Amino acid sequence: MTERIEQEVRRRRTFAIISHPDAGKTTLTEKLLLFSGAIQIAGSVKARKAARHATSDWMEIEKQRGISVASSVMQMEYRDCVINLLDTPGHQDFSEDTYRVLTAVDAALMVIDAANGVEPQTRRLLQVCRARNTPILTFVNKMDREVKDPLALMDELEQELGMTVCPFTWPVGMGKQFGGVMDLRAQSMRVFAPGEDRAGGDEELITDLDNPAHESRFGMAWGQAQGELELVREAATPFEHAEFLAGHQTPMFFGSAINNFGVREVLDALVELAPPPGERASLQRVVQPTEKKFSGVVFKIQANMDPAHRDRIAFVRCSSGHFERGMKLKVTRTGKDFRPNTVVSFLSQRRELVEEAFAGDIIGIPNHGVLHLGDTLTEGEPLQFTGLPFFAPEMFRNVEVADPLKTKQLRAGLQQLGEEGAIQVFRPMAGSVLMLGAVGQLQFEVVAHRLEHEYGVKARIQPCRFQVARWVTADDEVELKKFIAANDHRMAYDAVDAPTILVEYAPELRAIQENWPKIHFHALREHA
Ligand code: GDP
Repeated sequence: MTERIEQEVRRRRTFAIISHPDAGKTTLTEKLLLFSGAIQIAGSVKARKAARHATSDWMEIEKQRGISVASSVMQMEYRDCVINLLDTPGHQDFSEDTYRVLTAVDAALMVIDAANGVEPQTRRLLQVCRARNTPILTFVNKMDREVKDPLALMDELEQELGMTVCPFTWPVGMGKQFGGVMDLRAQSMRVFAPGEDRAGGDEELITDLDNPAHESRFGMAWGQAQGELELVREAATPFEHAEFLAGHQTPMFFGSAINNFGVREVLDALVELAPPPGERASLQRVVQPTEKKFSGVVFKIQANMDPAHRDRIAFVRCSSGHFERGMKLKVTRTGKDFRPNTVVSFLSQRRELVEEAFAGDIIGIPNHGVLHLGDTLTEGEPLQFTGLPFFAPEMFRNVEVADPLKTKQLRAGLQQLGEEGAIQVFRPMAGSVLMLGAVGQLQFEVVAHRLEHEYGVKARIQPCRFQVARWVTADDEVELKKFIAANDHRMAYDAVDAPTILVEYAPELRAIQENWPKIHFHALREHA
């Protein structure tokens, strides 16, 4: 079995696409799926996007969630590899969920709209990847349009990303004059052929780059590309695989997703360059993906298709070993065993029962609250994986119930929504009004809607005077107790009872920090 586990781990590639809305993530995802023959799913990607656009009306939310469960993880086979593609929530309103999805991948594919360069959401997602040294591949999209000059783009990327950009392909022209892309390693050029329904990869290939005939065929763009390439060759740092794996270099590809042009090159690079699942840190020890025993971590919880039943799917990233159907699992947090009778994979639009899974794979476990965000599952060893981040909220609201008889339902609902990671819930030490914390306004709307429709509670979400939260810890328990007592008017406990200080203005926080040098203030809490 050990040999089989090693083999299976070696051929896994688990990644996410990160981009700013409208850069072409959905389009690229569909084309990637085409290459693996998973055309069926491609339709659902589009459907999901359509549903997403319809969500200004929150009555649509259940429907949307249903579709998004079906396509938030896509597994496909390409060449000898099993590829797990994780969707990052696409709301303009940035959500914490996205950060957590990025903890479950081994590489990221960054899509840049060549006309817009690096945009705000790309930048934020990238920061998360950089913090974890996740290797990143870059796809510069929409070369069939009038876009930025490729040298300027490369420069912008390097400045913005703080990474060395290594072009693997280079465009000849753009917009109407887009002739194709040079492959810098193979010394060949793939000629651009427009068409939305193309399978891709069947374009004309030019191998005699010295032939003067190309100059008349591609016009000015040809000479210009040659000139640019000369500069790139002189100035660019040679690509080194180790530097890419360390997150210091990113290979860059040019293309047009909608025309399925330049997409196969990226998929090939993903298979060839992106790493298989690696070791994962737990509080107890480092876990190797090829260990015999199964372990995994819950990185996302999503309310299921049928909100009336309140069942939820826990998305588990397998970290080691061999998962088999019918297996008994231990939840480290509670110490309890459970044997989930349905465990699903995301191989096609229909969710299928999982027969087996290996490190890098994502399995979905429907449950009624047994599993929380950040939980570790094992065959018995008490392991707790680290690294699942919770971010200090940037917005706060008080939440009260319109009908006081429903207080219990409100608390139960918020408890569950908090466990799901939909929102952060705080219990202030002073007073009995619960507080909600979020990083995006949309989270409040979602919570209000779900409280009403899933828990039958009309909640009043009201302004709150706090603007900044920090989790507090100290090496000395006594000091922490002293701090909490002295600040009890602005202390609260979160869902896992971690003490949190809330302040109205950032300068106030600085003053508190100066007065309490032995207290540590954290903007990020890792699940432990
Ligand atoms: P997402 O928001 O990142 O998922 O972006 P989409 O994949 O939905 O693409 C946004 C828009 O850009 C859509 O109208 C696409 O048709 C269009 N688009 C995507 N790729 C290309 C491309 O290569 N060229 C052009 N001209 N348009 C594209």
